[in-house]
Amino acid sequence: MTEKLSADRISFVTDNYFRISEKIENARIKAGRSDEVNFMAVTKTVPAEIVNHSVSLGVKLLGENRVQEFLDKHEQYSGDYSVHFIGGLQTNKVKYIIDKVSMIHSVDSIKLAAEIDKRAAAAGRVMDILLEVNIGGEESKNGIPAEQLSELAAEAGEYRNLRIRGLMTIPPVDINGSSERYFEKMQRLYSDLRDSTRGKESFLIDTLSMGMSGDFEKAIYYGSTIVRIGSLLFGYRQY
Ligand SMILES: *Cc1c(COP(=O)(O)O)cnc(C)c1O
Repeated sequence: MTEKLSADRISFVTDNYFRISEKIENARIKAGRSDEVNFMAVTKTVPAEIVNHSVSLGVKLLGENRVQEFLDKHEQYSGDYSVHFIGGLQTNKVKYIIDKVSMIHSVDSIKLAAEIDKRAAAAGRVMDILLEVNIGGEESKNGIPAEQLSELAAEAGEYRNLRIRGLMTIPPVDINGSSERYFEKMQRLYSDLRDSTRGKESFLIDTLSMGMSGDFEKAIYYGSTIVRIGSLLFGYRQY
């Protein structure tokens, strides 16, 4: 990246960061919420230098969804941040990220849960996870159908090196406001899960990860605690 391009992008990201932060705060207030909404910066395709700039502005949480890209970039990251893994995760890749992330949002099979548990045990830690729900029932998407959620939660809850923190979803593309219905469904699943697992070992349900660049304000209305923002913060991805 040339210096000029980089300087332009830095001021672009600065403006975006403050604008989005204000929108998040306004949406939170409008929803009558007194709890926190975390602004996650989704870093795919974004150079480490720009990611670091977002951290210097106040981003505390980075979302990574490509294992190889994350491994290539993470040593260049600097500042005060934590990393959550949010992308589709193959079981054979878990070992590469287990000591580098503090939460995995994309757990959608017992096989993956078992592998994370095994690697977490080997690393001497407990890994926080979210269960990913395919709320629109789309074939192209990861995540389990809503009907299988309680079964997966019960099975994953048996593992000693996992702590289940909540749910994640990517709803279908919003057509005429259709995403509200999916967010509302997620909110219900989330509160049911919280009620049914309260006080149980392996469960501490406090995280609902939903809402991206195009729909985060609606997601906040329906209780999202982490909004995952990529293009609105960093600009459109070329690939
Ligand atoms: C890319 C990505 C995002 C961010 O998407 P934008 O629409 O660019 O904000 C959020 N969540 C996941 C899982 C992603 O892969």
